[in-house]
Amino acid sequence: LDRKTVTELAESLRGALLLPGNDGYDTARRVLNAGIDKHPALIVQPSGATDVRHAVDFARAHRLLLAVKCGGHSYAGKSTCDGGLQIDLSTLRHARVDPNAKKAWIAGGSLLAELDRESMAFELVTTAGTVSHTGIGGLTLGGGFGRVARRFGLALDNVSAVDIVTADGQLRRASADENPDLFWGVRGGGGNFGVVTNFEFDLHPMQRQVVAGELFFPLDRARDVLGFYSEFAAVAPDELYCDCLLMAPAGGAGSPMAGLSLCYTGPAARADAVLAPLAKLGKPMVDTVGPADYVRVQQSWDDSDPRNSGEYLKSGFVDAIVQDLVDGIVDGFEPDPGRNTMLYFQHSGGAIGRVPADATAFAHRGSLANMMLMINWPLSTDGGPHVAYLRSCWQTLERFTDGWYTNEVSNEPQRVINSNYQGNFDRLLALKKRYDPENLFRLNANIRPTA
Ligand code: FAD
Repeated sequence: LDRKTVTELAESLRGALLLPGNDGYDTARRVLNAGIDKHPALIVQPSGATDVRHAVDFARAHRLLLAVKCGGHSYAGKSTCDGGLQIDLSTLRHARVDPNAKKAWIAGGSLLAELDRESMAFELVTTAGTVSHTGIGGLTLGGGFGRVARRFGLALDNVSAVDIVTADGQLRRASADENPDLFWGVRGGGGNFGVVTNFEFDLHPMQRQVVAGELFFPLDRARDVLGFYSEFAAVAPDELYCDCLLMAPAGGAGSPMAGLSLCYTGPAARADAVLAPLAKLGKPMVDTVGPADYVRVQQSWDDSDPRNSGEYLKSGFVDAIVQDLVDGIVDGFEPDPGRNTMLYFQHSGGAIGRVPADATAFAHRGSLANMMLMINWPLSTDGGPHVAYLRSCWQTLERFTDGWYTNEVSNEPQRVINSNYQGNFDRLLALKKRYDPENLFRLNANIRPTA
Protein backbone atom coordinates (compact mmCIF):
# COMPACT_ATOMS: atom_id res chain seq x y z
CA LEU A 1 0.00 0.00 0.00
CA ASP A 2 1.43 3.38 -0.89
CA ARG A 3 1.23 6.42 1.35
CA LYS A 4 -1.52 8.03 -0.74
CA THR A 5 -3.79 4.99 -0.43
CA VAL A 6 -3.33 4.86 3.34
CA THR A 7 -3.97 8.61 3.61
CA GLU A 8 -7.19 8.18 1.63
CA LEU A 9 -8.34 5.53 4.10
CA ALA A 10 -7.51 7.83 7.04
CA GLU A 11 -9.42 10.68 5.43
CA SER A 12 -12.49 8.51 4.81
CA LEU A 13 -12.82 7.87 8.57
CA ARG A 14 -14.22 9.94 11.41
CA GLY A 15 -12.49 7.56 13.85
CA ALA A 16 -8.77 6.82 14.06
CA LEU A 17 -6.43 4.93 11.76
CA LEU A 18 -3.51 3.57 13.78
CA LEU A 19 -0.22 2.50 12.25
CA PRO A 20 2.65 0.70 14.01
CA GLY A 21 4.27 3.13 16.42
CA ASN A 22 1.16 5.29 16.89
CA ASP A 23 -0.19 5.87 20.39
CA GLY A 24 -2.73 3.19 21.21
CA TYR A 25 -1.52 0.80 18.49
CA ASP A 26 -0.16 -1.77 20.95
CA THR A 27 -3.25 -1.76 23.15
CA ALA A 28 -5.46 -2.21 20.13
CA ARG A 29 -3.52 -5.05 18.53
CA ARG A 30 -3.18 -7.07 21.71
CA VAL A 31 -5.71 -9.64 22.86
CA LEU A 32 -6.35 -11.24 26.23
CA ASN A 33 -4.02 -14.17 25.54
CA ALA A 34 -0.65 -12.49 25.84
CA GLY A 35 0.95 -15.43 24.05
CA ILE A 36 -0.51 -14.00 20.83
CA ASP A 37 1.75 -11.21 19.57
CA LYS A 38 0.53 -10.07 16.16
CA HIS A 39 1.05 -6.79 14.35
CA PRO A 40 -1.63 -5.59 11.93
CA ALA A 41 -0.42 -3.14 9.28
CA LEU A 42 -3.47 -0.93 9.84
CA ILE A 43 -5.94 -0.61 12.71
CA VAL A 44 -9.23 1.18 12.21
CA GLN A 45 -11.02 2.38 15.33
CA PRO A 46 -14.43 3.22 13.93
CA SER A 47 -16.66 5.98 15.24
CA GLY A 48 -19.74 4.28 13.81
CA ALA A 49 -21.07 1.90 11.17
CA THR A 50 -19.94 4.17 8.32
CA ASP A 51 -16.29 3.82 9.37
CA VAL A 52 -16.77 0.06 9.58
CA ARG A 53 -18.11 0.10 6.03
CA HIS A 54 -15.08 2.07 4.79
CA ALA A 55 -12.72 -0.35 6.54
CA VAL A 56 -14.47 -3.40 5.09
CA ASP A 57 -14.48 -1.87 1.59
CA PHE A 58 -10.79 -1.05 1.95
CA ALA A 59 -9.82 -4.53 3.12
CA ARG A 60 -11.81 -6.13 0.30
CA ALA A 61 -10.48 -3.78 -2.41
CA HIS A 62 -6.86 -4.33 -1.33
CA ARG A 63 -7.27 -8.02 -0.52
CA LEU A 64 -6.08 -7.52 3.06
CA LEU A 65 -6.43 -10.06 5.82
CA LEU A 66 -9.19 -8.66 8.03
CA ALA A 67 -9.47 -9.11 11.81
CA VAL A 68 -12.40 -7.87 13.89
CA LYS A 69 -11.85 -7.29 17.60
CA CYS A 70 -14.46 -6.71 20.28
CA GLY A 71 -13.38 -7.89 23.76
CA GLY A 72 -10.25 -9.68 22.47
CA HIS A 73 -11.09 -12.85 24.44
CA SER A 74 -10.62 -15.31 21.59
CA TYR A 75 -8.20 -17.85 23.08
CA ALA A 76 -6.60 -18.41 19.70
CA GLY A 77 -6.30 -14.68 19.00
CA LYS A 78 -8.71 -14.63 16.05
CA SER A 79 -9.32 -10.91 16.57
CA THR A 80 -5.84 -9.73 15.61
CA CYS A 81 -3.55 -10.48 12.70
CA ASP A 82 -0.11 -10.02 11.20
CA GLY A 83 0.15 -7.55 8.37
CA GLY A 84 -3.55 -7.09 7.62
CA LEU A 85 -6.24 -4.68 8.75
CA GLN A 86 -7.78 -4.91 12.18
CA ILE A 87 -11.10 -3.26 12.99
CA ASP A 88 -10.89 -2.52 16.71
CA LEU A 89 -14.48 -2.11 17.89
CA SER A 90 -13.48 -0.86 21.36
CA THR A 91 -14.56 2.58 20.17
CA LEU A 92 -18.12 1.26 19.68
CA ARG A 93 -19.17 0.65 23.29
CA HIS A 94 -22.63 1.70 24.33
CA ALA A 95 -25.75 0.15 25.83
CA ARG A 96 -29.28 1.53 25.76
CA VAL A 97 -32.24 -0.08 27.49
CA ASP A 98 -35.96 0.50 27.00
CA PRO A 99 -37.51 -0.95 30.18
CA ASN A 100 -41.06 -0.76 28.81
CA ALA A 101 -40.27 -2.62 25.62
CA LYS A 102 -37.86 -4.92 27.56
CA LYS A 103 -35.23 -4.38 24.89
CA ALA A 104 -31.54 -3.50 24.95
CA TRP A 105 -29.47 -2.08 22.09
CA ILE A 106 -25.80 -2.84 22.54
CA ALA A 107 -23.08 -1.48 20.25
CA GLY A 108 -21.01 -4.22 18.62
CA GLY A 109 -17.77 -3.48 20.50
CA SER A 110 -19.31 -3.47 23.98
CA LEU A 111 -18.25 -5.62 26.90
CA LEU A 112 -20.67 -7.75 28.90
CA ALA A 113 -20.39 -5.43 31.91
CA GLU A 114 -22.21 -2.71 29.99
CA LEU A 115 -25.16 -4.96 29.16
CA ASP A 116 -25.54 -6.26 32.73
CA ARG A 117 -25.19 -2.85 34.33
CA GLU A 118 -27.70 -1.05 32.15
CA SER A 119 -30.34 -3.78 32.07
CA MET A 120 -30.12 -4.73 35.76
CA ALA A 121 -30.74 -1.09 36.67
CA PHE A 122 -34.35 -1.92 35.70
CA GLU A 123 -34.27 -5.46 37.15
CA LEU A 124 -34.09 -6.79 33.63
CA VAL A 125 -31.57 -9.30 32.35
CA THR A 126 -30.44 -11.27 29.36
CA THR A 127 -27.81 -13.97 29.13
CA ALA A 128 -24.19 -12.87 29.20
CA GLY A 129 -21.01 -14.79 30.04
CA THR A 130 -19.38 -15.23 33.43
CA VAL A 131 -16.50 -12.75 33.05
CA SER A 132 -17.62 -9.18 32.53
CA HIS A 133 -14.74 -8.00 30.35
CA THR A 134 -15.63 -10.52 27.63
CA GLY A 135 -16.87 -8.93 24.39
CA ILE A 136 -20.52 -9.02 23.50
CA GLY A 137 -19.58 -9.51 19.83
CA GLY A 138 -17.62 -12.73 19.92
CA LEU A 139 -19.57 -14.25 22.81
CA THR A 140 -22.99 -13.69 21.25
CA LEU A 141 -22.25 -14.56 17.63
CA GLY A 142 -20.89 -17.98 18.60
CA GLY A 143 -23.28 -18.84 21.46
CA GLY A 144 -23.14 -17.18 24.86
CA PHE A 145 -23.30 -19.44 27.92
CA GLY A 146 -23.78 -17.82 31.29
CA ARG A 147 -25.43 -17.76 34.68
CA VAL A 148 -28.97 -17.30 33.35
CA ALA A 149 -28.65 -19.26 30.08
CA ARG A 150 -30.51 -22.27 31.47
CA ARG A 151 -33.46 -19.94 32.19
CA PHE A 152 -33.41 -17.66 29.17
CA GLY A 153 -31.35 -19.48 26.56
CA LEU A 154 -27.95 -18.60 25.11
CA ALA A 155 -27.07 -14.96 24.50
CA LEU A 156 -27.78 -15.58 20.81
CA ASP A 157 -31.26 -16.94 21.59
CA ASN A 158 -32.10 -13.52 22.98
CA VAL A 159 -30.96 -11.51 19.97
CA SER A 160 -33.94 -10.07 18.12
CA ALA A 161 -32.00 -8.12 15.47
CA VAL A 162 -28.51 -7.09 14.43
CA ASP A 163 -27.06 -4.32 12.28
CA ILE A 164 -24.29 -5.93 10.28
CA VAL A 165 -21.80 -4.71 7.70
CA THR A 166 -21.41 -7.55 5.24
CA ALA A 167 -18.43 -8.23 2.97
CA ASP A 168 -19.84 -6.06 0.16
CA GLY A 169 -19.70 -3.08 2.55
CA GLN A 170 -23.49 -2.85 2.90
CA LEU A 171 -25.04 -2.14 6.30
CA ARG A 172 -27.96 -4.55 6.71
CA ARG A 173 -30.45 -5.22 9.43
CA ALA A 174 -31.11 -8.87 10.09
CA SER A 175 -34.10 -10.03 12.13
CA ALA A 176 -36.97 -12.48 11.83
CA ASP A 177 -38.54 -10.09 9.30
CA GLU A 178 -35.54 -8.59 7.49
CA ASN A 179 -32.87 -10.76 5.90
CA PRO A 180 -34.09 -13.74 7.95
CA ASP A 181 -31.52 -16.06 6.36
CA LEU A 182 -28.69 -13.86 7.59
CA PHE A 183 -30.39 -13.56 10.99
CA TRP A 184 -30.37 -17.34 11.25
CA GLY A 185 -26.69 -17.55 10.27
CA VAL A 186 -25.24 -14.85 12.52
CA ARG A 187 -26.69 -16.62 15.55
CA GLY A 188 -24.05 -19.34 15.76
CA GLY A 189 -22.02 -18.64 12.63
CA GLY A 190 -19.54 -16.54 14.61
CA GLY A 191 -18.06 -13.61 12.72
CA ASN A 192 -18.37 -15.39 9.36
CA PHE A 193 -20.93 -13.03 7.84
CA GLY A 194 -19.77 -9.54 8.70
CA VAL A 195 -19.17 -6.98 11.41
CA VAL A 196 -22.09 -6.57 13.78
CA THR A 197 -22.24 -2.91 14.76
CA ASN A 198 -25.32 -3.23 16.94
CA PHE A 199 -27.24 -5.99 18.74
CA GLU A 200 -30.87 -5.79 19.81
CA PHE A 201 -31.60 -8.08 22.77
CA ASP A 202 -34.81 -9.21 24.47
CA LEU A 203 -34.72 -8.66 28.24
CA HIS A 204 -36.42 -10.61 31.01
CA PRO A 205 -37.57 -9.45 34.44
CA MET A 206 -35.28 -10.71 37.21
CA GLN A 207 -34.58 -9.52 40.74
CA ARG A 208 -31.10 -8.17 41.46
CA GLN A 209 -30.56 -10.31 44.51
CA VAL A 210 -29.63 -13.91 43.75
CA VAL A 211 -27.91 -16.69 45.70
CA ALA A 212 -24.42 -17.31 44.39
CA GLY A 213 -20.87 -18.24 45.26
CA GLU A 214 -18.34 -21.05 45.33
CA LEU A 215 -17.73 -24.18 47.37
CA PHE A 216 -14.22 -25.61 47.35
CA PHE A 217 -12.78 -28.85 48.69
CA PRO A 218 -9.20 -30.15 48.68
CA LEU A 219 -8.26 -31.62 45.31
CA ASP A 220 -8.18 -35.14 46.77
CA ARG A 221 -11.99 -34.87 46.97
CA ALA A 222 -12.17 -34.37 43.18
CA ARG A 223 -13.75 -37.75 42.53
CA ASP A 224 -16.57 -37.05 45.02
CA VAL A 225 -17.13 -33.56 43.68
CA LEU A 226 -17.30 -34.72 40.05
CA GLY A 227 -19.56 -37.64 40.96
CA PHE A 228 -21.90 -35.34 42.84
CA TYR A 229 -21.86 -32.79 40.03
CA SER A 230 -22.74 -35.37 37.38
CA GLU A 231 -26.10 -35.94 39.09
CA PHE A 232 -26.76 -32.50 40.54
CA ALA A 233 -26.16 -30.69 37.23
CA ALA A 234 -28.32 -33.13 35.29
CA VAL A 235 -31.46 -32.59 37.42
CA ALA A 236 -31.00 -28.93 38.33
CA PRO A 237 -33.96 -26.59 37.78
CA ASP A 238 -33.53 -23.95 35.08
CA GLU A 239 -32.99 -21.27 37.74
CA LEU A 240 -29.87 -23.02 38.99
CA TYR A 241 -26.61 -22.66 37.12
CA CYS A 242 -23.75 -24.73 38.49
CA ASP A 243 -20.24 -25.07 37.10
CA CYS A 244 -17.70 -27.58 38.36
CA LEU A 245 -13.98 -26.95 38.46
CA LEU A 246 -10.69 -28.46 39.42
CA MET A 247 -7.95 -25.91 39.79
CA ALA A 248 -4.31 -25.96 40.68
CA PRO A 249 -2.68 -22.53 40.87
CA ALA A 250 0.89 -21.89 39.79
CA GLY A 251 3.67 -22.02 42.38
CA GLY A 252 2.43 -21.54 45.90
CA ALA A 253 -0.48 -19.24 45.06
CA GLY A 254 -2.90 -21.51 46.88
CA SER A 255 -3.70 -25.18 47.30
CA PRO A 256 -5.23 -27.28 44.49
CA MET A 257 -8.99 -27.54 44.88
CA ALA A 258 -12.10 -29.08 43.40
CA GLY A 259 -15.38 -27.26 43.68
CA LEU A 260 -18.60 -25.80 42.39
CA SER A 261 -19.48 -22.29 41.29
CA LEU A 262 -23.20 -21.63 41.34
CA CYS A 263 -25.84 -19.02 40.86
CA TYR A 264 -29.49 -19.51 41.75
CA THR A 265 -31.79 -16.87 40.29
CA GLY A 266 -35.20 -18.33 41.20
CA PRO A 267 -37.53 -17.31 44.03
CA ALA A 268 -35.55 -16.71 47.24
CA ALA A 269 -37.94 -18.88 49.24
CA ARG A 270 -36.91 -21.94 47.21
CA ALA A 271 -33.16 -21.42 47.37
CA ASP A 272 -32.55 -23.53 50.49
CA ALA A 273 -34.43 -26.49 49.07
CA VAL A 274 -32.70 -26.29 45.70
CA LEU A 275 -29.26 -26.08 47.29
CA ALA A 276 -29.90 -28.63 50.07
CA PRO A 277 -28.24 -31.55 48.20
CA LEU A 278 -24.89 -29.71 48.43
CA ALA A 279 -24.73 -30.77 52.06
CA LYS A 280 -23.99 -34.32 50.86
CA LEU A 281 -20.48 -33.16 50.00
CA GLY A 282 -19.70 -32.37 53.62
CA LYS A 283 -17.95 -29.30 54.97
CA PRO A 284 -16.06 -27.36 52.29
CA MET A 285 -12.76 -25.57 52.95
CA VAL A 286 -14.15 -22.50 51.18
CA ASP A 287 -17.84 -21.54 51.12
CA THR A 288 -18.90 -18.18 49.70
CA VAL A 289 -22.46 -19.15 48.77
CA GLY A 290 -25.03 -16.63 49.93
CA PRO A 291 -27.25 -13.73 48.86
CA ALA A 292 -25.49 -11.53 46.33
CA ASP A 293 -26.09 -8.76 43.82
CA TYR A 294 -26.30 -10.25 40.32
CA VAL A 295 -24.14 -7.55 38.70
CA ARG A 296 -21.41 -8.12 41.28
CA VAL A 297 -21.62 -11.87 40.77
CA GLN A 298 -21.14 -11.26 37.06
CA GLN A 299 -17.87 -9.48 37.89
CA SER A 300 -16.70 -11.94 40.51
CA TRP A 301 -14.53 -13.92 38.07
CA ASP A 302 -12.99 -10.88 36.42
CA ASP A 303 -9.62 -11.53 37.97
CA SER A 304 -9.34 -14.57 35.72
CA ASP A 305 -7.70 -12.15 33.31
CA PRO A 306 -4.36 -13.60 32.29
CA ARG A 307 -3.09 -10.63 30.27
CA ASN A 308 0.52 -11.40 31.12
CA SER A 309 0.28 -15.14 30.49
CA GLY A 310 0.35 -17.56 27.64
CA GLU A 311 -2.83 -19.57 27.47
CA TYR A 312 -3.98 -22.82 25.90
CA LEU A 313 -7.31 -24.60 26.02
CA LYS A 314 -9.11 -27.64 24.65
CA SER A 315 -12.84 -28.02 25.00
CA GLY A 316 -15.81 -30.14 24.01
CA PHE A 317 -19.47 -30.62 24.88
CA VAL A 318 -20.49 -33.56 27.07
CA ASP A 319 -23.98 -35.05 27.31
CA ALA A 320 -23.25 -36.74 30.63
CA ILE A 321 -20.36 -37.05 33.07
CA VAL A 322 -19.89 -40.81 33.14
CA GLN A 323 -17.64 -42.71 35.56
CA ASP A 324 -14.93 -43.33 32.93
CA LEU A 325 -14.77 -39.60 32.28
CA VAL A 326 -14.46 -38.88 36.01
CA ASP A 327 -11.62 -41.42 36.18
CA GLY A 328 -9.91 -39.87 33.17
CA ILE A 329 -10.09 -36.41 34.71
CA VAL A 330 -8.88 -37.44 38.15
CA ASP A 331 -6.04 -39.54 36.76
CA GLY A 332 -4.99 -36.95 34.17
CA PHE A 333 -5.26 -33.71 36.14
CA GLU A 334 -1.71 -32.74 37.08
CA PRO A 335 -0.94 -29.70 39.20
CA ASP A 336 2.35 -28.10 38.20
CA PRO A 337 4.00 -25.17 39.98
CA GLY A 338 4.91 -23.65 36.60
CA ARG A 339 1.34 -23.08 35.46
CA ASN A 340 -2.28 -22.61 36.44
CA THR A 341 -4.17 -25.76 35.53
CA MET A 342 -7.95 -25.82 35.37
CA LEU A 343 -10.58 -28.34 34.36
CA TYR A 344 -13.94 -26.67 34.04
CA PHE A 345 -17.49 -27.71 33.25
CA GLN A 346 -19.72 -24.84 32.16
CA HIS A 347 -23.33 -25.78 32.78
CA SER A 348 -25.61 -26.03 29.73
CA GLY A 349 -29.09 -27.59 29.40
CA GLY A 350 -32.39 -26.09 30.51
CA ALA A 351 -33.74 -23.54 28.05
CA ILE A 352 -30.65 -23.94 25.83
CA GLY A 353 -31.68 -27.50 25.06
CA ARG A 354 -35.30 -26.67 24.32
CA VAL A 355 -34.40 -24.71 21.18
CA PRO A 356 -34.32 -26.97 18.09
CA ALA A 357 -30.78 -27.54 16.74
CA ASP A 358 -31.72 -25.97 13.39
CA ALA A 359 -33.59 -22.93 14.77
CA THR A 360 -30.32 -20.98 14.76
CA ALA A 361 -26.90 -21.84 13.37
CA PHE A 362 -25.82 -22.99 16.86
CA ALA A 363 -26.24 -26.78 16.74
CA HIS A 364 -24.97 -28.07 20.10
CA ARG A 365 -28.21 -27.92 22.02
CA GLY A 366 -28.29 -31.29 23.76
CA SER A 367 -25.24 -31.05 25.97
CA LEU A 368 -25.11 -31.02 29.75
CA ALA A 369 -21.95 -28.93 29.89
CA ASN A 370 -19.01 -27.55 28.00
CA MET A 371 -15.90 -29.28 29.35
CA MET A 372 -12.70 -27.22 29.14
CA LEU A 373 -9.15 -28.04 30.07
CA MET A 374 -7.17 -24.82 30.36
CA ILE A 375 -3.69 -23.83 31.33
CA ASN A 376 -1.80 -20.59 31.52
CA TRP A 377 1.81 -19.88 32.33
CA PRO A 378 4.05 -16.80 32.75
CA LEU A 379 5.25 -15.61 29.35
CA SER A 380 8.80 -15.45 30.66
CA THR A 381 8.85 -19.28 30.82
CA ASP A 382 8.64 -21.96 28.15
CA GLY A 383 5.03 -22.97 27.57
CA GLY A 384 5.99 -25.99 25.40
CA PRO A 385 5.90 -28.67 28.12
CA HIS A 386 2.61 -27.33 29.48
CA VAL A 387 0.95 -27.41 26.07
CA ALA A 388 2.28 -30.93 25.58
CA TYR A 389 0.76 -31.97 28.92
CA LEU A 390 -2.62 -30.53 28.01
CA ARG A 391 -2.68 -32.18 24.60
CA SER A 392 -1.85 -35.56 26.04
CA CYS A 393 -4.41 -35.29 28.84
CA TRP A 394 -7.06 -34.14 26.36
CA GLN A 395 -6.49 -37.24 24.24
CA THR A 396 -8.01 -39.26 27.07
CA LEU A 397 -10.93 -36.90 27.62
CA GLU A 398 -11.86 -36.05 24.05
CA ARG A 399 -13.67 -39.31 23.34
CA PHE A 400 -16.34 -38.31 25.88
CA THR A 401 -17.16 -35.12 23.94
CA ASP A 402 -19.54 -34.48 21.08
CA GLY A 403 -18.53 -31.36 19.19
CA TRP A 404 -16.99 -28.19 20.61
CA TYR A 405 -17.82 -24.56 21.15
CA THR A 406 -17.00 -22.56 18.00
CA ASN A 407 -15.92 -19.63 20.20
CA GLU A 408 -13.07 -21.85 21.35
CA VAL A 409 -11.83 -22.59 17.84
CA SER A 410 -8.09 -22.85 17.46
CA ASN A 411 -6.42 -24.11 14.29
CA GLU A 412 -8.49 -27.20 13.68
CA PRO A 413 -8.42 -28.79 10.21
CA GLN A 414 -11.18 -27.52 7.89
CA ARG A 415 -13.08 -30.82 7.90
CA VAL A 416 -13.23 -30.72 11.71
CA ILE A 417 -14.58 -27.17 11.65
CA ASN A 418 -17.16 -28.03 8.98
CA SER A 419 -18.42 -31.12 10.78
CA ASN A 420 -18.71 -29.21 14.05
CA TYR A 421 -21.56 -27.18 12.51
CA GLN A 422 -23.33 -30.55 12.27
CA GLY A 423 -26.67 -30.47 10.40
CA ASN A 424 -26.46 -26.70 9.94
CA PHE A 425 -23.32 -26.74 7.82
CA ASP A 426 -24.90 -26.90 4.34
CA ARG A 427 -27.18 -23.97 5.07
CA LEU A 428 -24.26 -21.97 6.52
CA LEU A 429 -22.15 -22.74 3.46
CA ALA A 430 -24.90 -21.46 1.13
CA LEU A 431 -25.14 -18.28 3.21
CA LYS A 432 -21.38 -17.80 3.21
CA LYS A 433 -21.29 -18.10 -0.59
CA ARG A 434 -24.01 -15.50 -0.80
CA TYR A 435 -22.77 -12.95 1.73
CA ASP A 436 -19.00 -13.46 1.74
CA PRO A 437 -18.01 -15.29 -1.45
CA GLU A 438 -14.34 -14.20 -1.18
CA ASN A 439 -14.06 -15.19 2.47
CA LEU A 440 -13.14 -11.75 3.73
CA PHE A 441 -14.26 -12.74 7.24
CA ARG A 442 -12.12 -15.77 7.85
CA LEU A 443 -10.49 -15.30 11.25
CA ASN A 444 -13.11 -17.37 13.09
CA ALA A 445 -14.46 -20.94 12.96
CA ASN A 446 -14.34 -20.39 9.26
CA ILE A 447 -16.91 -21.60 6.77
CA ARG A 448 -14.88 -21.63 3.57
CA PRO A 449 -17.12 -20.62 0.66
CA THR A 450 -15.13 -22.84 -1.67
CA ALA A 451 -15.67 -25.96 0.47
P1 FAD B 1 -12.69 -11.29 20.28
O1 FAD B 1 -11.36 -11.95 20.43
O2 FAD B 1 -12.72 -9.82 20.20
O3 FAD B 1 -13.47 -11.89 19.04
C1 FAD B 1 -13.67 -13.28 18.90
C2 FAD B 1 -14.23 -13.59 17.51
O4 FAD B 1 -15.48 -12.93 17.33
C3 FAD B 1 -13.34 -13.13 16.36
O5 FAD B 1 -13.45 -14.05 15.32
C4 FAD B 1 -13.96 -11.81 15.99
O6 FAD B 1 -13.66 -11.46 14.69
C5 FAD B 1 -15.43 -12.05 16.20
N1 FAD B 1 -16.17 -10.84 16.57
C6 FAD B 1 -16.11 -10.17 17.75
N2 FAD B 1 -16.96 -9.14 17.74
C7 FAD B 1 -17.56 -9.13 16.54
C8 FAD B 1 -18.54 -8.30 15.94
N3 FAD B 1 -19.07 -7.27 16.59
N4 FAD B 1 -18.93 -8.59 14.67
C9 FAD B 1 -18.39 -9.64 14.02
N5 FAD B 1 -17.46 -10.47 14.53
C10 FAD B 1 -17.06 -10.21 15.79
N6 FAD B 1 -17.99 -17.92 26.53
C11 FAD B 1 -19.25 -18.14 26.98
O7 FAD B 1 -20.13 -18.48 26.19
N7 FAD B 1 -19.56 -17.98 28.30
C12 FAD B 1 -18.64 -17.59 29.21
O8 FAD B 1 -18.97 -17.48 30.38
C13 FAD B 1 -17.32 -17.33 28.77
N8 FAD B 1 -16.38 -16.92 29.64
C14 FAD B 1 -15.13 -16.61 29.17
C15 FAD B 1 -14.17 -16.11 30.07
C16 FAD B 1 -12.90 -15.79 29.63
C17 FAD B 1 -11.89 -15.23 30.63
C18 FAD B 1 -12.55 -15.98 28.27
C19 FAD B 1 -11.17 -15.67 27.78
C20 FAD B 1 -13.49 -16.49 27.38
C21 FAD B 1 -14.79 -16.80 27.81
N9 FAD B 1 -15.75 -17.29 26.93
C22 FAD B 1 -17.03 -17.53 27.39
C23 FAD B 1 -15.44 -17.58 25.53
C24 FAD B 1 -15.90 -16.39 24.67
O9 FAD B 1 -17.24 -16.62 24.24
C25 FAD B 1 -15.02 -16.26 23.42
O10 FAD B 1 -13.68 -16.11 23.81
C26 FAD B 1 -15.48 -15.09 22.57
O11 FAD B 1 -14.92 -15.22 21.30
C27 FAD B 1 -15.09 -13.78 23.18
O12 FAD B 1 -15.61 -12.70 22.45
P2 FAD B 1 -14.78 -11.34 22.34
O13 FAD B 1 -15.59 -10.38 21.58
O14 FAD B 1 -14.25 -10.96 23.68
O15 FAD B 1 -13.52 -11.85 21.50
